[in-house]
Amino acid sequence: MKLDILAIGAHPDDVELGCAGTIAKEIKNGKKVGILDLTRGELGTRGTPEIRSQESKKASDILGVSIRENLDFKDAFFKNDQEHQLEIIKKIRTYKPEIVLCNAITDRHIDHGKGSKLVSDACFLSGLKKIETKDNAMQQAPWRPKLVYHYIQWMPIEPDFVVDISDHMDTKIKSVMAYGSQFYDADSKEPTTPISSKNFLDSIEYRAADLGRLIGVRYAEGFTVERYVAVDSIFNLI
Ligand SMILES: [Zn+2]
Repeated sequence: MKLDILAIGAHPDDVELGCAGTIAKEIKNGKKVGILDLTRGELGTRGTPEIRSQESKKASDILGVSIRENLDFKDAFFKNDQEHQLEIIKKIRTYKPEIVLCNAITDRHIDHGKGSKLVSDACFLSGLKKIETKDNAMQQAPWRPKLVYHYIQWMPIEPDFVVDISDHMDTKIKSVMAYGSQFYDADSKEPTTPISSKNFLDSIEYRAADLGRLIGVRYAEGFTVERYVAVDSIFNLI
């Protein structure tokens, strides 16, 4: 199956927090979108890998993604090296996405910046034909996504462009709340973490509202790019 967009996150829930509105919008527009999680978030303070796996399935159903896979890298300890790059290259060559969305280039959790660079490097290397990979014993053809965009998560990074997600904010919040073990729940007996506070849950809404305010819409998500943003026509900007 060929995908239009492959969204990749270091942990299950990164993609939902960073770019679920954009994904929901593109799926509504008829695009095929998949999610690839690098780890199971097994070192997360709350929940268990099994619970997070069920939660990410629920979030995937809410968004309507075509595939969701997990590379089972080690939470916190995966590296940006040949072994890990090759695993991602295999997925890129299997699904041939035009656009890859990945973690913020720097963030509070070390896996975000590390995962961001790992994915970005793998996207470049995937286009080199002398790097040989196989899928079910079949040689894979090289494939380089046209564009790599980084979504924004914990740190308030200034975006290079923003996407109007006003009609998809409800879907985004629902997909985030599918991770019931991770986020604010007044009845939870689990330890409190930076992302389980009421303030963090509220921040998803008010940060999207603030980006929206700056472009004259209700809600938006921001992204950074590794090269200049190019447009066919200056009239295409909203
Ligand atoms: Zn994360």
